[in-house]
Amino acid sequence: MRSTALYIDGRWVDGADSFTTTDPATGAALAHVASASAADVDAAVASARNALPSWTATPPSVKAKLLWKLADLIEADGDELAALETSDQGQPLGIARNVSVTGAAEHFRYFAGWATKIDGTVNTVSFPNTLQYDRRVPVGVCALIAPWNFPLMIMAWKLAPALACGNTTVLKPAEQTSLTTVRLVELAVEAGFPPGVINLVTGGPETGKALVAHPGVDKVSFTGSTEVGQAIVSASASDLKRVTLELGGKTPTVVARSADIDAAVAGTVAGGLLNSGQVCAAYARLYVDSKRRDEFTSKLAAAVAGLRIGAGADPSTELGPLVTAEHRTRVDGFVQRAIAAGATLATGGSVVDGPGNFYHPTVFADVKDDMQIAREEVFGPVLAVLDYDDEDELLARVNDSPYGLAAAVWSDDLRSAHRLADGIRAGAVFVNMPCIPDAAAPWGGFRSSGWGREMGPYAIDAYTEVKGVWIHHGA
Ligand code: NAD
Repeated sequence: MRSTALYIDGRWVDGADSFTTTDPATGAALAHVASASAADVDAAVASARNALPSWTATPPSVKAKLLWKLADLIEADGDELAALETSDQGQPLGIARNVSVTGAAEHFRYFAGWATKIDGTVNTVSFPNTLQYDRRVPVGVCALIAPWNFPLMIMAWKLAPALACGNTTVLKPAEQTSLTTVRLVELAVEAGFPPGVINLVTGGPETGKALVAHPGVDKVSFTGSTEVGQAIVSASASDLKRVTLELGGKTPTVVARSADIDAAVAGTVAGGLLNSGQVCAAYARLYVDSKRRDEFTSKLAAAVAGLRIGAGADPSTELGPLVTAEHRTRVDGFVQRAIAAGATLATGGSVVDGPGNFYHPTVFADVKDDMQIAREEVFGPVLAVLDYDDEDELLARVNDSPYGLAAAVWSDDLRSAHRLADGIRAGAVFVNMPCIPDAAAPWGGFRSSGWGREMGPYAIDAYTEVKGVWIHHGA
């Protein structure tokens, strides 16, 4: 069984303690993962602070080359990285290879391009004989805290822009799934990033808390649950750390009267059950035009019931296990409460007997707006079908949610699709397609789904401060 270490100030060091993680497909022990203490966090932050001036001053083209090299190393190591993600997180190998690994590499390439293009503007001010310009400077030491659903890819979403902007970093992956982040750091060392620019502290919530509370951290970029996001806001209030939050969601999906139902069913399966529904933007709250509801629901239930459940390492698997036994129990709790509340079970609704954390993919029909299954994030393979008659009333219902991360629309009526895309309050609306975040396009949520945006030029905003310089040069 592998054992992992912390990476602090250019050296791999043992943690104060360690814990054991398991393979979600078998329940077997998988790795001993180092657990960073507050003293380890202290050392990691000190290292990032020391490295900050020289990394900030490193020529942008050198930063770009290092980021590009890391992308190449990720691609070259792609099969091993994918196998590691599958054994640690459970996701089917094809998703690990084509979504997680490729997505991570593409992020490093995209932000390699940005490293040489982070500049400012000259502004026309009223004060006479004055040159006024602004420029972007790094925020400083960034704590990057990731969840367990797409460990490698989400860490790349943070690390690539943070480094491109000249920040130094301390990485904290989720305790359930640290292994690909450890490998990512090994590859970054191989690429040649200087000591202190990337530090790694594995561990659980206590490690995360120590990092967020640390006065040497200038910014926290967090992806995870809304509850922990709120705790991070409170913990960073004392010194007003910069905070970016990518939190939970309950993605509304509209299947309009004009929709191609077969495409909508296939897209809902892809968008709702990717990674067994352990996706922040999973298409889980489905509003179907009442004239198409029965056709949609029966085709969806048949498609979902036909999915091949199995270990992610088996190439024929379409639906892998849930990340932990505890999480499966949580998902099952949502399902049993939905049944008790009167939702109609169209398929699924129970755990799969045997080893591993498998759950039968589940579709509920006759769901009402006020049911928990329609309002709260399950983060599992559970889809809820509601219906609607009127688009104006629909928009009010769709927007009546604490969340606003993403939304989807299936419609062959261009006017209706535009109207819905315009009216839905969410950070991203996908029309006639599954949810596919891209390094070039903004990603983030309205309301309780988060603060700020990752990806695209928005990530440059997130990892820089703007400094204005005024030079009075006389008459
Ligand atoms: P989580 O909030 O339990 O944990 C996320 C990370 O925070 C882990 O690394 C954890 O160790 C750490 N942590 C826990 N308590 C902390 C604290 N008090 N201070 C600092 N760090 C702390 O989330 P999870 O269960 O790993 O992930 C699932 C959640 O993530 C879901 O709600 C999902 O919607 C969300 N998510 C959002 C996005 C997005 O882009 N918006 C993407 C993926 C996942």
